[in-house]
Amino acid sequence: MRTDTGQVFKLEDYRPNDYLIPQTNLTFRLSPDATRVTALLTVERRDGVSMSAPLVLDGDGLTLKRIEIDGKKVKPSDLLASPDQLTILKPPAARRFQLLIETELAPAGNEALMGLYRSSNVYCTQCEAEGFRRITYFLDRPDILSVYTVRIEALRDEAPLLLSNGNPLDRGDLGGGWHYARWHDPFPKPSYLFALVAGNLGQLADSFVTLSGRTVELGIYVEPGKEKLAGYAMDALKRSMKWDEEAFGREYDLDVFNIVAVSDFNMGAMENKGLNVFNDKYVLADRETATDADFANIEAIIAHEYFHNWTGNRITCRDWFQLCLKEGLTVFRDHEFSADQRSRAVKRIAEVRTLRAHQFPEDQGPLAHPVRPRRYREINNFYTATVYEKGSEVVRMIRTILGAEVFRAGMDLYFERHDGDAATIEDFIKVFEDASGRDLSQFALWYHQAGTPNLTISSTHNPAAQEFTLEIEQSVPPTPSESRKRLMHIPLAFGLIGAGGKAVEYSGVEGASIEDGVIHVRKRRHMVRFSGVAERPAVSLNRGFSAPVTLSVEQKADDQFFLARHDNDAFSRWQAFNTLLTDALISAFREILGGKQPDFAARLTELAGSIAGDETLEPAYRALALALPGEADIARDIGRNIDPDAIYAAREALALAIGTANRGAFSSLYLSLADKAAFSPDAASAGRRALRNTLLDYLSLQPGGAALAAGHFQSATNMTDRAAALAVLAHRHHGSPEAIEALAAFETIYGSDPLVMDKWFQIQASVPGPQTVDTVMALTNHPAFSMGNPNRVRSLIGTFSSANQTGFHRADGEGYRFFSQTVLEVEKRNPQVAARLATALRSWRSLEPLRQAKAREALLSIANAENLSADLRDIVERTLA
Ligand SMILES: [Zn+2]
Repeated sequence: MRTDTGQVFKLEDYRPNDYLIPQTNLTFRLSPDATRVTALLTVERRDGVSMSAPLVLDGDGLTLKRIEIDGKKVKPSDLLASPDQLTILKPPAARRFQLLIETELAPAGNEALMGLYRSSNVYCTQCEAEGFRRITYFLDRPDILSVYTVRIEALRDEAPLLLSNGNPLDRGDLGGGWHYARWHDPFPKPSYLFALVAGNLGQLADSFVTLSGRTVELGIYVEPGKEKLAGYAMDALKRSMKWDEEAFGREYDLDVFNIVAVSDFNMGAMENKGLNVFNDKYVLADRETATDADFANIEAIIAHEYFHNWTGNRITCRDWFQLCLKEGLTVFRDHEFSADQRSRAVKRIAEVRTLRAHQFPEDQGPLAHPVRPRRYREINNFYTATVYEKGSEVVRMIRTILGAEVFRAGMDLYFERHDGDAATIEDFIKVFEDASGRDLSQFALWYHQAGTPNLTISSTHNPAAQEFTLEIEQSVPPTPSESRKRLMHIPLAFGLIGAGGKAVEYSGVEGASIEDGVIHVRKRRHMVRFSGVAERPAVSLNRGFSAPVTLSVEQKADDQFFLARHDNDAFSRWQAFNTLLTDALISAFREILGGKQPDFAARLTELAGSIAGDETLEPAYRALALALPGEADIARDIGRNIDPDAIYAAREALALAIGTANRGAFSSLYLSLADKAAFSPDAASAGRRALRNTLLDYLSLQPGGAALAAGHFQSATNMTDRAAALAVLAHRHHGSPEAIEALAAFETIYGSDPLVMDKWFQIQASVPGPQTVDTVMALTNHPAFSMGNPNRVRSLIGTFSSANQTGFHRADGEGYRFFSQTVLEVEKRNPQVAARLATALRSWRSLEPLRQAKAREALLSIANAENLSADLRDIVERTLA
């Protein structure tokens, strides 16, 4: 465990290292408790660097066994060696020399899951961001690009399969039960992309013929016996390879592409060159064990890691401040892939919901940081929704501003100009400026300034002058260490909609530049005047979510109802209905139910029924529309003095009102959607299941609801339906015989399948109410649970703390107390996972005063613990600051 040194890394301190490592030869002799690693490095002094410049290599908890330069032992007096650093005080006079370093590792005891470790008896590695320094001393930074040759030696019985990056060179027997394999990766890469896997794994093999006719051998490696569960992942991989050729002209470059699924993994997956390592939950799937959401995630993550081959691997980051260069761009690419494979509108709504649920609270709280941060203490804590999801939105805005064709020209230029480079955000922006001839310097603030911009918009119509005016004002809220903000360039897509849903024509416009339905907001205030507008239009704003901003719009309920029925931008139509639901939940709801605004309530429930039954809308879209805003979404919109119990009660009341008003129609629609054809995970079938399960949720609050859900559970023929019914029973009918029976049945059927049991943990961890903290505490002793496995911890503890508003934020603080103890317990093994968990309290200041005080106590109890890791200390101190 790396303890905190308090060191802060700053973007402005970047400078190239004095040395390069053009060649890296690694030999691993694998053993669980004493693996020998021999690194033979070709080291080169950079031009102009003094001969006396010491060579300082990074390490993390290493044991040095041997060191030689050009075949000769290095005298101890010429060295400074500690577990965390190796300094060669007097490197040779020659510009190039060979440095041999031998270290010894104990992969079996590595519970942090960084560097070389064991997962279910398989040796595997995770090196991003700074795990390679736990394997050998190295210049462990992304701008040191090296050509790797790797030799792996292992006992054949223990590890029949030996994989590393690049192409296979040769393999053979070593006698005494040992064997070896050698791999060579011709593409220079940073150390964070190094990977090794060795063990006994089953293989699903296939091949792909690239654009230029080369055949690439594809392999997905899984626990023996689970090969059949990798079929969907393989299909997704081949579709990704084809799509990247068509959409971005990017062809795969090695002879082999391998994916390995492991069960202990800190993240989702890792894009190591030619050898992706995956969390097994994003590889293994079939009808019986995976939900439609799992299938969609597998497709997206397989694509994401594959797309990194160009955006991340061929062009990598100069330093970790540039993380969004590879992540934001690659998320954008995987979003586009999924939109092309599925439904663009549905995908866009889902993306925006995710952004709002995860990135907005980050941007609005103590952990806010720019898409490209300027400083960090622990880089592991910057794999955030801001870097990934907002980073993707920024790339999307570049395309919106330049248009698809110029955007593609800019991307082509990026690949041409920077292939083989460790690049920066400035390099990225420059290619689009060069391709378009436009100045993007104001736009670039999206990378440099934290905080979610807000647009305050009002409209007026002057019938006599036939003029329609939009008054737009931008502001960016202060964020930690950035109190004053500069004005941003915000591309605001809009539409003026008249009677019957037709676009309203205008003869002229002044006050802002408008291109292709996008207002370019660049100043603090714009008065945008449209002339020749006879009738007052309804205005559809931020269409397609063209900019990741919040809107404060004074809009009449009539206009919202109108847009929810007639907006021809699918996203904005969803948004209009969602805004009505949110408004109902936040402010007027009790009054509405109390009869003060009976008209509004009736109109809203009637609209819900009409959307549910609208056959012109895809079922998946209708399911998303009918999903009420989450409790956390409502809390964020309220902003302060949050009482999670009151929000929960309002949401339940609205669900009951909508279900009651539409009971007959929802019932018959529910019945009509039952799966008749054979199971398929495709988007259309998944959409029908989603709508049916959403309707089940509403109907479960109606008389006979528990029996209906129990029947749904028993007759389910796939995991989507089974898990949905179980969640409805556990959440809506907690403690009922039906719920108890279903939970027990699920445990009996899937008790030996850890990934499916994760769903069982998740469902129970998210049961609303004060009793759940006790349930979760008890479940930590369940035989299927393990504090050492990140997937189990995230399913039970992560779900409870981030997705159970009434349980976690229990008024007496018991949820927080359990949470802080558990975070410290997880931290002893895995600081990275603990730090991620701890972000669940990032919005503590928006709670009502009593909960706020208790949340602060819990944070302080973590902060005051002894020997905190750098990861956890960084999160907790920033959260409290
Ligand atoms: Zn990525």
